[in-house]
Amino acid sequence: MSDQYVKVQVEQMKSFGEDAEKEGVDTEEQVPGSSPSASVSPDHPTSTDASSTSLPCKQTGKSRSKPGREDKRHTSDVASQDSVVSSEKNLNRLGYERTLQVKGTGKILQRKSEPNGNYVTIHTSKNIEEMRREEGFKLAKKRRPVTVDTSKAKTSLEALKISIKQLKWKEFPLGRRTACDIYWHGVSFHDNENIVSGQVNKFPGMIEMLRKINLSRAVRTMQELFPEEYDFYPRSWILPEEYQQFTTQIHMVKEKDATVNPTFIVKPDGGSQGDGIYLIRDPSDLKLMTGSQAKQGVVQEYIQKPLLIDKLKFDIRLYVLIKSLEPLEIYIAKEGLTRFCTELYQEPSQKNLSHVFMHLTNYSLNVHSGNFVHSDSQSTGSKRTLSSVLYRLAAKGVDIKRVWSDIIALVIKTVIAVVPELRVYYQADIPPGKPGPTCFQILGFDILLMKNLKPVLLEVNSNPSMRIEHEQEVAPGVFEYVPSPVDEEVKVGVIRDTLRLMDPGNKKPTVPQQRAGGFEQGEEIPMEEETQEKSQDETGTLPSLCLKQVYPKYSKQFNYLRLVERIAALFIRFLGVKGNMRLGPTAFRTFIRTCKLSGSNFTMASVDILYIDITRRWSGATPDSREAGMGLQAFVEAFFYLAARRFKSLALREQVVSLLELCESQLGPQSGVEERRSLSCSRALPRTVKTQAPCLANPQLSSPAPLRRAASQDYRHQRFKPRSLRANVEN
Ligand code: ADP
Repeated sequence: MSDQYVKVQVEQMKSFGEDAEKEGVDTEEQVPGSSPSASVSPDHPTSTDASSTSLPCKQTGKSRSKPGREDKRHTSDVASQDSVVSSEKNLNRLGYERTLQVKGTGKILQRKSEPNGNYVTIHTSKNIEEMRREEGFKLAKKRRPVTVDTSKAKTSLEALKISIKQLKWKEFPLGRRTACDIYWHGVSFHDNENIVSGQVNKFPGMIEMLRKINLSRAVRTMQELFPEEYDFYPRSWILPEEYQQFTTQIHMVKEKDATVNPTFIVKPDGGSQGDGIYLIRDPSDLKLMTGSQAKQGVVQEYIQKPLLIDKLKFDIRLYVLIKSLEPLEIYIAKEGLTRFCTELYQEPSQKNLSHVFMHLTNYSLNVHSGNFVHSDSQSTGSKRTLSSVLYRLAAKGVDIKRVWSDIIALVIKTVIAVVPELRVYYQADIPPGKPGPTCFQILGFDILLMKNLKPVLLEVNSNPSMRIEHEQEVAPGVFEYVPSPVDEEVKVGVIRDTLRLMDPGNKKPTVPQQRAGGFEQGEEIPMEEETQEKSQDETGTLPSLCLKQVYPKYSKQFNYLRLVERIAALFIRFLGVKGNMRLGPTAFRTFIRTCKLSGSNFTMASVDILYIDITRRWSGATPDSREAGMGLQAFVEAFFYLAARRFKSLALREQVVSLLELCESQLGPQSGVEERRSLSCSRALPRTVKTQAPCLANPQLSSPAPLRRAASQDYRHQRFKPRSLRANVEN
């Protein structure tokens, strides 16, 4: 027996113990008498001294996973390792005895030197290998399953229960006195208060960020900077504030060309499931109220020529997992749903504008149409799998790889647009240094394919329905929930694989920076078998992951878009008080001073005027002390203004990049992540800059974005009050 072998064994056990510790062995649920961390501790200080005898323990991992091989090496070690034997001789000369105790087992490994022999023996009560294996089994048994608090899961509960069962994890349906590893919330981050550890399946602020007005604003800011990249979102005007702009623009367009007859869709801000949505052809048809009754919402260009299947309009529900904000990690579910209208589609006309079953694809509406078909198979009926639809399109000769890669790009760009504000919410709810959970979230992207196959973003749901059953009239007037195979197929996979990715014991590196690379068009499509994300299930009983990482995998392609996030990082730096989401006037002054942005032609008095003007417009009419100050969107507006002042000769994007670089250089070193981002953003500079986002269907319609920018420079433009939290209905 060689000393090296002892060392290897020691390291193996140590590493096994550490693994068990990392797995989070729960003392509460352990076998009595066992220790949570089974490590090996020498009772003599020199016994684990690496310099004394042994080789580096590279074999640790291997031998752990392949005990059979380890047995063989053990035999050959004893028989033939001369070099090790000679080092044993040296050690033997010291003539002392070592004992190693495996913590928590009470077993003693004794290493006795044999004064005259050229080998040493280890006296153990059992064969060491046998013992190691036993230890392994015990630890594996003791490793408690991941715990999930499902008490607030609401309508996701059924799919969640199935997922937890498949993973052999432990559910706490009524919550738990001690902490759980994962908390599954049905609505918002705040469903359970005072969570100080573990992971929650909602981000603070996601509901607010994805409301129709805020999403439109966030995308619009990106359209100002990157008009071509963000042309997948229909032209939108925010109501009631932009009503005048909307009417003026439409009249101008119609005056210019009388044949142009666009249609618009009006959506209430907090609406879901098609509630309160209607189509108009003339701005005067807007049901606009005034004063406190004014309906907040968006009016949006209506996509008149959608792609049809069986002459029906349909949209795609895609599930997207934001696994982490910092660093940004995005996964897309390879399988999604398609929801079909139940009345044959016709282009909008004054006659058919009110036909909701023709124009709106919402399941919640169409299920009430007499034509709704509950799908038995995944490729028929009014709700089908995405893969079955893509298969159908491929059979017709459509380049679905291209469609799929366009959809991935749309998802990444949309997430990049909302991340800056999410970071502000995140640091307010979970300030660095304060104990708190980490977050992840499944989002529901609603995407329409245009006739020319271009994907268009309709909306993003922070709380997509995870129901796997639907209501059915089983007898006249008697409704029951019955299982929906299509929903179950898709949603259980999404929840289960989200849990697998969030498994706290999953030691697989989740940010494969080395893999981060450029975007390869159509690399993988939903119909293909997943090859990269292999099953992480030890028993091999689970299917391969249905969630596919797209970011940071495609970070090279998209990093240059993360400009507003850098502005948000500056903003957060100056927020000061933990939990704050708004900059006070002093903090804004400090920002200007620290970044050396004031001077003889931009005095601190002008800085104060700028602050007051922008903040007043953003905070709206009702003064609320909790909401006083400058929020991120107002700060972005101020930043654009400062950039335009300072770098007059440049186009907006270059102005912003130049000012960012100036501020960042004044503020000192950035974190590694920010630095990488900054580099890739600078590389984006040579691209041509257009100031107007192209219109999806009606090129004559110009974007409100340039208007906003122009107006922001003369301070006359009306901005809108950021909204307070309202839990939205799942949809
Ligand atoms: P909700 O949250 O109420 O479901 P959506 O924005 O998803 O609101 O719109 C509801 C439905 O209206 C969509 O599912 C889609 O069928 C249709 N729709 C929405 N926006 C557009 C648009 N810009 N062009 C064409 N159809 C649209």
